Amino acid sequence: MIKPDLGTKRVCPSCAARFYDLQKRPIECPKCAFSFEPEMLLKQRRTRVPEPVKAVVAEADDKGATIAAAYIALRPGNKAGDALANEIKEHAAKSLPRFKRPQRIHFMEALPRTATGKVQRFKLRQMSMENRGQAPIS
Ligand SMILES: [Zn+2]
Repeated sequence: MIKPDLGTKRVCPSCAARFYDLQKRPIECPKCAFSFEPEMLLKQRRTRVPEPVKAVVAEADDKGATIAAAYIALRPGNKAGDALANEIKEHAAKSLPRFKRPQRIHFMEALPRTATGKVQRFKLRQMSMENRGQAPIS
């Protein structure tokens, strides 16, 4: 049975809930109250460029001091190397407080994730421990 008064079926870009928009503008998600325009969705879909996925974890440096280390999942076309590492550090210098800026950058094909897409930070810490032969800092 068709119910035209329900409007169009939408997927919330914030929480992924599925709902009918009831022909309201802007559309409001009944689950998380995120509101958006249908045009916005189209524009985003057209221009969305995947960013390198990254996670920052605390790690020990050679002297045992805590530093921030970034784990970067490369997107196709990006090459791991000093140029990209420096670019990321420069960007971090502009946007992050000093203690959060990654001092060490590890490139990987993909970050370890749970079934729901969350980055598994404990695995990154485990990796940094294995890389360095010392206990990770959480
Ligand atoms: Zn939502």
